Parts: sequence; structure tokens; C-alpha cells
Amino acid sequence: MKHLSSSAVQSLHRQLVEMRARLLEEIRIAHADIESVHESLEGESRGGSDASELSRLEALRRSEIAIDESKLNAIDEAERRMNEGNYGVCMACGKAIAPDRLLALPTAVRCTDCEQAPMSQRG
Ligand SMILES: [Zn+2]
Repeated sequence: MKHLSSSAVQSLHRQLVEMRARLLEEIRIAHADIESVHESLEGESRGGSDASELSRLEALRRSEIAIDESKLNAIDEAERRMNEGNYGVCMACGKAIAPDRLLALPTAVRCTDCEQAPMSQRG
């Protein structure tokens, strides 16, 4: 990560820390929502249409939690790469990832070229 100044890495690290705090808060809220869904379901002895609406809400919250957790994993990965000193290096081609891209997406692990590389050649 020689292409990144230590102050740039520091500010990216701060971004990662803030992102993690935000995600943990989102997950906490989603879990609290699920809790209240369960309480509502238990409150209704015979669940009608409300029950299916509530379980739909729970499924939605659970998928949000799954997305947030995968983002948390990406943040952990980025911090690990910072510690190991290979942060900002493309996993696919080994070239430096543009600082602008990292500022926009601190968890980026591939350079723009590799990210945009088409799966198959266009005719
Ligand atoms: Zn690349």
C-alpha cells in the first residue's frame, strides 16, 4: 500500500470504524424489531393476516441482518489487510487500487478494471 499515504490509510480506517458502528447499530435495531414481532405474535392467540404480515417483516429484517453481517465481514477483511500491509492492493490482479475508489468504497478488494471486467467477451 505504498501508493497510499499513512494519513489516507488512517482516514480510511476511521471510515471503517464508523461503518462498523453504524452496521452494529442497524443489526441491534433489526434484532429488536424481530423481538417485538415475536412478542406481537405471542400476543395474538389466533394469528390471522397480521401474523403473516409480521413474519414477512421478520424475514425482511433477517435478510437485512445478513447483508449487514456480510458488510461487517468486508470491514474485518479490510482492517486485516491494513494490519498486514496489503490494503489497497487488488486481490485479482495485484495492482494498486486507485485511492479515489478506496475513499468511495473503503472495503474494496478489487481495482475498478477487475470489478468491471465482463464475465464474457461482448460480440
Ligand atoms: Zn485488479
